[in-house]
Amino acid sequence: MTTPPESSPESAVQSRPRARPPELEPVFRPVSDLGGVGTHMSKMLVKVAGTEIVDLLWHLPVALLDRRYTPKIAELKQACLATLELTIDRHDPGRGRAPYRVRCRDETGFIELVFFNVRGPYLLKQLPVGEKRLVSGKVEFYNGLPQMAHPDAIMPVTARDRIAIVQAIYRLTGGLTQPMLDRMMRAALVHTPSLPEWLDTGLQRQRQWPDWRAAILAVHNPETEAELLPAAPARQRLAYDELLAHQLALALVREQNRRSGGKPNVGDGRLRNAAIAALPYRLTGAQERSLDEILHDMNDSHRMLRLLQGDVGSGKTVVALLAMLAALETGRQAALMAPTEILARQHMATIAAICEQLRVNVVVLTGRDKGKARKQTLEAIADGRIQIVIGTHALIQPDIVFHALALVVVDEQHRFGVDERAALTAKGQGVDTLVMSATPIPRSLTLAAYGDMDVSRLDEKPPGRTPITTRLVAIERLDEVLSGLERAISGGARIYWVCPLIEESDESDMAAARQRFAMLHARFGQRVGLVHGKMKAAEKDAVMAGFSDGDLDILVATTVIEVGVDVPEATIMVIEHAERFGLAQLHQLRGRVGRGSAASTCLLLYAGPLGETARERLQILRETEDGFRIAEEDLKLRGAGDLLGTKQSGLPDFRLADPVLHGDLLAVAADDARMVMTKDPGLTGKRGEALRVLLYLFRRERAVRYLRSG
Ligand code: ADP
Ligand code: MG
Repeated sequence: MTTPPESSPESAVQSRPRARPPELEPVFRPVSDLGGVGTHMSKMLVKVAGTEIVDLLWHLPVALLDRRYTPKIAELKQACLATLELTIDRHDPGRGRAPYRVRCRDETGFIELVFFNVRGPYLLKQLPVGEKRLVSGKVEFYNGLPQMAHPDAIMPVTARDRIAIVQAIYRLTGGLTQPMLDRMMRAALVHTPSLPEWLDTGLQRQRQWPDWRAAILAVHNPETEAELLPAAPARQRLAYDELLAHQLALALVREQNRRSGGKPNVGDGRLRNAAIAALPYRLTGAQERSLDEILHDMNDSHRMLRLLQGDVGSGKTVVALLAMLAALETGRQAALMAPTEILARQHMATIAAICEQLRVNVVVLTGRDKGKARKQTLEAIADGRIQIVIGTHALIQPDIVFHALALVVVDEQHRFGVDERAALTAKGQGVDTLVMSATPIPRSLTLAAYGDMDVSRLDEKPPGRTPITTRLVAIERLDEVLSGLERAISGGARIYWVCPLIEESDESDMAAARQRFAMLHARFGQRVGLVHGKMKAAEKDAVMAGFSDGDLDILVATTVIEVGVDVPEATIMVIEHAERFGLAQLHQLRGRVGRGSAASTCLLLYAGPLGETARERLQILRETEDGFRIAEEDLKLRGAGDLLGTKQSGLPDFRLADPVLHGDLLAVAADDARMVMTKDPGLTGKRGEALRVLLYLFRRERAVRYLRSG
């Protein structure tokens, strides 16, 4: 796509995307390019590591197998891993189903090698009688005699260098074995190129980090347990590379944002003051403070990039509305992008009544809008009659043109890519961005997730909320639970029933939800509804509306209700298999109740027995409703290892870095990225060129596009 000269400043500064640096080609070939990889093997490698050779290089060993122990037979201990030099005495093929045995000796004693289902001729060739062989494997004692079942390796004595070694052990997937993966890994390592050094020289010297290629080779050839630790220099270096690439990508986007120039996007207060007067409540201190911070940024000539973090129910939407109204006061428009249609409509519901009073035109636009109605809406957006547009990512479609977009609000940002956000802000000039997130990320990890973004926090709940009573209940007591619900329903209660997370697949989650629905339906009759991710939006909305209006007493759901549902009358939340959910997610689900003035209850059903850590984790939810505290405690108990890669953590998926264990590096990387942006924002110097390679290496090439051209 070529960029016309008169286009917006956003695209004018984007340089033509360069091709990937040639030195990276060897590692960006598909894993199937490695010798001896068939379709099946290729599938397994993709599953365990990823699609390209670089993914294999990033699949780091998790343990060691030390074959350097070369004792005499007399020194052997139970269950030790040993490499023995043995003379083969005799073969005993065994009768019937008995195993095949090979008796061997050294000058201190005898040992038996035991084989099941192995053909004699093969073994006679491997272990010729009277000759010496090196044999490595695990030793077990049987009736006081040492045995080795299916040795891991049998080699001539001259091969000592190849057998008496330390072997890296990798995480596997079904069908893949260590020797198979090891062979592939060795083949991949052959392709590891030398790359230009992108590290700051001072930092590298101070930390004594190896160069990139040496680091890759080192992590796959560990000699000691210490080398497997996150603090090992080679691992630290690779982790730092990943953190730096991430921070640099974020910094580039941010810098481009800043460079493209903002406008004062705050008007005279007319609409805001009217809205505040129309609200049935007073803003909390946290809301006022956050709003001030936002308005200050919007008024500034830089473009705002601010994160509004607040627990579920902390009142983010009204803050966003007031910010949008401030933009409208200047005669321009605002857009709010939500990750799901339900959430978009929920925002609409919160906002519509006030906007109506203020005679502000709001519309919801989703992928569902089609045909003539959609065309008319688009026209009204294009000529400015519609002032606020709420929608899903359908908002970024090219045919949606704004008259004068001033503010973009993005809800639940980690579900959107940075470029989706950028695509929306590119629909106006000097557009400010407000990102809202209800994922309570610990302070220490905000940097990892969002980079150098300004943060406002709603750390105070609106008044008048009654605390939620949280209970842990074993699933065996389901009957009691159901009787309890029966009583509650006759007292007018409305209940959410969240079905277990089976795996990260909609299919099985849906099946579980259907079963539970059938069971509850049989017991409670017509007033039970079901929503799941595979339903059409219209069906889903109808069921949700039924629950909201009180036509349904129980709403059975997969986790689709996690975000954005607001039914203040609902007072009971049942979560099945609570032990399978992340704490942050449980907390968000629980936040669906306790929104009105009536006392609320959350029942965490678990399938026992619960381990100690699992119980401790769930206990945290009983103790507090403070999402940020929950996130901190969860982190303490689990370590980021578990937190990472889980969808709900809100963190990017790091392969080599652990934002907790490498927390100190994270801060250094952020400083480093900032420094680069001051010294060489175009990445044109020697280090700059190397940093481009780094960005491509970690597939952040989109960020390279944000570099100033020229
Ligand atoms: P969030 O988006 O942070 O989850 P919402 O903005 O949806 O929270 O607010 C949750 C509920 O609290 C809404 O019903 C809203 O009207 C109400 N609310 C917001 N701010 C206040 C306040 N300051 N006092 C009382 N209620 C409030
Ligand atoms: Mg909300």
